[in-house]
Amino acid sequence: EADANDKKHMPLLPKIVKKNITVSPGDTLMELFVREGIERTDAYSIISSLSDLFNPRQLRQGQEIILNFETPPPSGTLFFHSLTLAPDLTREIQVTRSSEGTFLSKEVLYELEKKRVKAVAEIKSSLYNAALAADIPVEILIKMIRAYSYDVDFQRDIQSGDSFEALYEKVVDKNGNFIKGGELLYASLNTSGNPITIYRYQATDGEIDMYDAKGCSVRKTLMVTPIDGARLSSGYGMRRHPILGYTRMHKGLDFAAPSGTPIMAAGDGVIEMAGKKGGYGNYVRIRHANGYQTVYGHMKKFAPGIKKGVRVKQGSIIGYVGSTGISTGPHLHYEVLYNKENVNPASIKTPSGRILKNDELERFLLFKQEVETLCLNENPEPPLNELNNLQANNRSPVLD
Ligand SMILES: [Zn+2]
Repeated sequence: EADANDKKHMPLLPKIVKKNITVSPGDTLMELFVREGIERTDAYSIISSLSDLFNPRQLRQGQEIILNFETPPPSGTLFFHSLTLAPDLTREIQVTRSSEGTFLSKEVLYELEKKRVKAVAEIKSSLYNAALAADIPVEILIKMIRAYSYDVDFQRDIQSGDSFEALYEKVVDKNGNFIKGGELLYASLNTSGNPITIYRYQATDGEIDMYDAKGCSVRKTLMVTPIDGARLSSGYGMRRHPILGYTRMHKGLDFAAPSGTPIMAAGDGVIEMAGKKGGYGNYVRIRHANGYQTVYGHMKKFAPGIKKGVRVKQGSIIGYVGSTGISTGPHLHYEVLYNKENVNPASIKTPSGRILKNDELERFLLFKQEVETLCLNENPEPPLNELNNLQANNRSPVLD
């Protein structure tokens, strides 16, 4: 009796029909909406409403969209009510029809958290493969390689039996699913029993950089490896079989890498030449401060905007690995000149970054100790907050 009574007083609510749609190859939002029964004028308004939050051109095949329709009695025709679309793993976009008939879009950010992860790996074939085997996210590997590219020639300095450890952050969702790599906090690269350690440190003025164990920024005037080292064919194989054309008289370093691998400006400077030059093929020469020049040969092509007179920053992309000119396969030929004379690129290690001193150095050394203690832990998670406080609190009593 009670049930019957309730039913009698229930308003005639429209039923919501939910459709889970998967984006097919070549679908546009417009086509998809119309196909699913949304009126063309509504579809247009929905798209213009959500395009503040999501570029419809970034719709991916396989992406899921949830469409909710009302079926107002008595007709039963489907009438768009709302939709949910997740452009990536970090957020979702909701579009709802308002009572005035307009469409409102909002973005809901998923709850994400950072976890600290420690990885230890022995290098058997290449740094890249070792990092992959140790489950290190590619973003972290790239940060590591960038930080080491001032000091390490990945192609020659790394051999089988070398090892490294890294402490880094990864961003996970509330179920612990990996979303992306965060910051590289610490790394130690052990080449021939000689560890090179680096630390991500935020100074009291807020500036963040990677520092060596003595508190010197890893930045140097010129990079030893001016190439996206993640794709270098490093490892013992390379050592036993020197690259074709590499001889003692060679004026520079050759880095074998897949065609199209980005090449970076080894230091800040001005492009002196970008064009074809004999056996060098597509050639770039950069003039740097204090009498240095760097030369890059055999490029497949130059990066957009790279031409004579253009100023470049260290690490910016100037071109791509190729095999133009006299070359036996895709590689970067890299030379460093000092007062117009060729010098060994690996021997130029002039610091160009910050050198921590006095109180800042003391603070850094405490931080360094903290990170190292953290690394001794099997699970680097528990002291997370202490470390965060140390990083965030400029006037920490521990440090004064
Ligand atoms: Zn060469």
